[in-house]
Amino acid sequence: MSLRVSKRRNLVAQSEIRSMSIECARVQGINLAQGVCDLPVPDVVINGAEEAMKHGTNIYTRFDGRFELRKAIAAKQYRFTGMDVDPEGHIIVSAGATGAFYSTCLALLDAGDEVVVFEPYYGYHIVTMESLGIKPAFVTLKPPRWHFSEDDLEKVVTHKTRAILLNTPSNPAGKVFARNELQIIADFAESHDLFVFTDEIYEHFVFDGREHIAPATLPGMARRTITISGLSKIFAVTGWRLGYALCDPEWALPIGHFNDLVYVCAPAPLQIGAARGLEKLGTDYYQAVSDEHQVKRDLFCATLRDIGLPPHVPEGAYYTLADISSLPGETAKDRALNLLDKTGVACVPGSAFYQGNEGEGLARFCFAKEMPLLEKAMSRLRGESA
Ligand code: PLP
Repeated sequence: MSLRVSKRRNLVAQSEIRSMSIECARVQGINLAQGVCDLPVPDVVINGAEEAMKHGTNIYTRFDGRFELRKAIAAKQYRFTGMDVDPEGHIIVSAGATGAFYSTCLALLDAGDEVVVFEPYYGYHIVTMESLGIKPAFVTLKPPRWHFSEDDLEKVVTHKTRAILLNTPSNPAGKVFARNELQIIADFAESHDLFVFTDEIYEHFVFDGREHIAPATLPGMARRTITISGLSKIFAVTGWRLGYALCDPEWALPIGHFNDLVYVCAPAPLQIGAARGLEKLGTDYYQAVSDEHQVKRDLFCATLRDIGLPPHVPEGAYYTLADISSLPGETAKDRALNLLDKTGVACVPGSAFYQGNEGEGLARFCFAKEMPLLEKAMSRLRGESA
């Protein structure tokens, strides 16, 4: 038999996060590799979904989501960013931010197109594009401030460049793009006539009084920007698969049609649960979740510093990239496995976030865990308990 799988298969075969998670489960360790937040889901969200299931919201929804969810998303977007989004025609509810990004790439880009991407990057973005034949062109952010310049962008642009992708606050660096940086991106996008894809899934987790600025709100950016976000992180419902793309109706329509083709719709009763959460939870809820992540960031980064693995202290999101170059091993993977072996705590080798070798001395830890588990992880790292 000469049956074979696609060449594309190789793109998804190797996932550092998956392999570290498997290894972590094998040794019954604490998994700080996966970006899963295990905080409680707000009651109003659970009750909303439960009610919807009991009262018959169990069939397909329209391809772009239930109106009440789109309306609630539009209201939240206005409240937090000032964006004026029409729930009719400008919002596509998808299967997570992941589904929204995939549908966006399917709808707006062709194989052979190029997209400017910052590294360290979120691996799903890269593999999603590569599996569609879209080529990422990398701009490496320079620590400690994860800086980039206009020149860095100009160096990678070609006649095939169609978009620039950013993620703010970013995974894994926790970079919150400042207004002047967004202005550089906006000017670049305008001068080369590019789409701006912006993944804002961590928009509510910004620390030390910083402000999340939605790139679409910069002057002249509204029409070319596809804003992607979702409910996974803010309501701690990563398994519910609820996200969305916000954009001009000219792009929303094809994005919605591909969303229909791949996902049909996001889970119907869960859309209602999310709508109730967006309608009923006030600004204090969002602030409390962000504050909780900030407290954990400080505790966890202090632990890393104390044990000689100095962290890059994130400005937002819920990860830290730490310098693990002092650990034994040739590669980041060896060092991460060594740490897991010695302490029972799993992280992601930094090589998962770079094309080149810049990540070999780094590892990403997710600190969005319930306090008892995070405390256990911190004592294990300090060598205080088995
Ligand atoms: N975008 C980024 C940058 C992420 O880090 C993640 C999850 O870790 C996602 C998207 C996935 O979001 P969703 O669960 O809404 O698909």
